[in-house]
Amino acid sequence: MNNEKTCGQVGPPEDFRDLSLGSLDEIFAANKFSAGKIKNFFLQLKRQKISSLSELKNVKNISAIIDLLPFKTLDVVSSVKDKDNNEKIVFKTTDGFFIESVLMRSKKKISICVSVQIGCKIGCNFCTTAKIGFVRSLSAWEIMEQIRIIYSTKIYPDRLSCVSIMGMGEPFDNLENVFKAVEWMNSNYGYQISREKITISTSGFIPFDNFLLYSKPTNLAVSLHSAKEEVRSKIMNKSPISLEKLKKYMIEYVKRSGIAVTVEYCLINGLNDSNSDAIELSEFLSDVFCKVNILNFNTTIVGKTAEDSASDLRASRASFFKSVTNDKIRRFVDILKSRGIPTLYRKSLATDIGAGCGQLGFSANNIKPTTI
Ligand code: SAH
Ligand code: SF4
Repeated sequence: MNNEKTCGQVGPPEDFRDLSLGSLDEIFAANKFSAGKIKNFFLQLKRQKISSLSELKNVKNISAIIDLLPFKTLDVVSSVKDKDNNEKIVFKTTDGFFIESVLMRSKKKISICVSVQIGCKIGCNFCTTAKIGFVRSLSAWEIMEQIRIIYSTKIYPDRLSCVSIMGMGEPFDNLENVFKAVEWMNSNYGYQISREKITISTSGFIPFDNFLLYSKPTNLAVSLHSAKEEVRSKIMNKSPISLEKLKKYMIEYVKRSGIAVTVEYCLINGLNDSNSDAIELSEFLSDVFCKVNILNFNTTIVGKTAEDSASDLRASRASFFKSVTNDKIRRFVDILKSRGIPTLYRKSLATDIGAGCGQLGFSANNIKPTTI
């Protein structure tokens, strides 16, 4: 087995999905595995609910593969469904921490929202994940295992249409592993999800330089939430990147990818929801090829299990931040549209089970928050 750098450490990988696809192909070639055998192995791995490779059925000479490929998994701790069959799944990592993923179903598509870190360093004021503090980044295999478990137990034989990398954590703070996972999602070994069906969402608090070096762009969502510095830092955090610099990065992304950047704007009562906020946002975005997704503020919660989270949410709606009325949403959207900015109100799914944007942050019982 090649030594490969994972999570900043040198040594053999814990799991073969921490390898690049190129290194994996070298291993297969060195061991003279036939294309048919490799294809079948990955097909079965995707479809079957297993906790070790030795449990895989319908793969001939599995011991040769087991010897070559280290494999690890996550425990499913709990899952909770809403009335529309969207589902929040809580996983426990091998070192005892909790992460959450969301399976979203609509008439047209099935998508999964994955986590990339345990907690988050950015510490936005309106986000549940921030309340955990920061523990560590997830490796590529941990990102992929969220998808593999959900696909094999809840989606197969249907097709997974999209992946949102906008669960717990800041993807730009774990780019090496996020990119590795994107390669897997996209590849024939993985889920053959095209790059335009994969969205990476960033708070924009970490410089985009490394992201822009990536030659195969995915969709990019930027969490903006205000075109005013002082309002943005109230909602999110003190920003080391000015809005002007953030805009330059967005324009550079568009230039390199040819894809419109998605701007996430969460409306919060009395903070960023006035007519003048909408006008200022439209002016800020007038020279950016983009589309705006308007979200409403979701109550943030911390519960002990997925079921607790849902009941905590129902029990306690008290929060410093408040959501806005439908009238306000309509007015805000209309102003942006009338000023030529493509805008959509994206109603958060599964908020009643604590699986909406900003709500992921399973209580993480034993997690001791660390500060940055
Ligand atoms: N760290 C990344 C992705 C995870 S957060 C980021 O910040 O972009 C996913 C989205 O939820 C982001 O757009 C974030 O700004 C938004 N969000 C955070 N808290 C929220 C809340 N309470 N209500 C609605 N959206 C929220
Ligand atoms: Fe981290 Fe995103 Fe939550 Fe901010 S909104 S704390 S960047 S996960």
